[in-house]
Amino acid sequence: MFRTRFAPSPTGYLHLGHALSALTVAHFARQAGGEMLLRIENTDFTRCRDEYESAIFDDLDWLGLDWPTPVRRQTAHFPEYKKALQKLIDAHVVYRCFLSRKELMTIIDSNPEMSAHGPDGPVYFGQPLPASEEAHLIEQGTPFAWRLSIRAARDMLCTDWSDISYAERSSGGEMLVARHKATPEIFGDAVIARKDIGTSYHLASVHDDALQGITHVIRGDDLKQAVHLHRLLQVLLDLPEPVYQHHRLLTDDAGKKLSKRDESPSLKQMRESGVRTADVKAQIADLLQD
Ligand code: GLU
Repeated sequence: MFRTRFAPSPTGYLHLGHALSALTVAHFARQAGGEMLLRIENTDFTRCRDEYESAIFDDLDWLGLDWPTPVRRQTAHFPEYKKALQKLIDAHVVYRCFLSRKELMTIIDSNPEMSAHGPDGPVYFGQPLPASEEAHLIEQGTPFAWRLSIRAARDMLCTDWSDISYAERSSGGEMLVARHKATPEIFGDAVIARKDIGTSYHLASVHDDALQGITHVIRGDDLKQAVHLHRLLQVLLDLPEPVYQHHRLLTDDAGKKLSKRDESPSLKQMRESGVRTADVKAQIADLLQD
């Protein structure tokens, strides 16, 4: 059964770009005779707010969408993400990183190999501290993140490393599926469990896609690069592989991607001021599949 999902993070009110995304995901689910789940990706409790979350339900309802219940809210499942992290710890492919942001930037600035900018920010390659140093920092209560070691993962997978690939379905035309080589190293040693929340978007999302039986991950082009890291995580955690599809993004008049921080009106503002759903669809008609 074709199953996809719309997985917003309630870190702000949704805007037209999210309407495009939700309607696109729903369109492909309908077209395939499958279903679209709604998943609330709220693990970043430092930024998520209840009022943003309840607006998501009202916005999607207003757009005429529906979804099976109960809806998975990631904050209710931290122990599961911890278990997935433990699997990576046991496989020795992650290490504790105690660096502060400032220390990290100093290392990166003085290391030409790390000058690349990855999809999530500066690229950093490190290694675990000697056991005695780690023990000392842990005893002092120094917070740490867990980073995925590209070197350790590559060593562990040996020749299988270069075979990691992903299947990408094109959005238009015949919607062909093409296979591409995955290059997770573009992220450097990515943070898999943040210091403050104990997990990351990447880990929680990949975990849930597998748990919920997602066959097709359909999302905006802004997350196109994440597939490289997600495929590596799926291989390391022995999770099934979905097909990926990325849709074009809505941009403002200057060609810049709309963001929750922008002044662009939120869907909440639009529906409260009497805008009709048909008008919303008309505004994004160029990019909308029907
Ligand atoms: N929660 C992510 C976001 O709001 C989307 C995750 C995904 O579709 O993989 O940007």
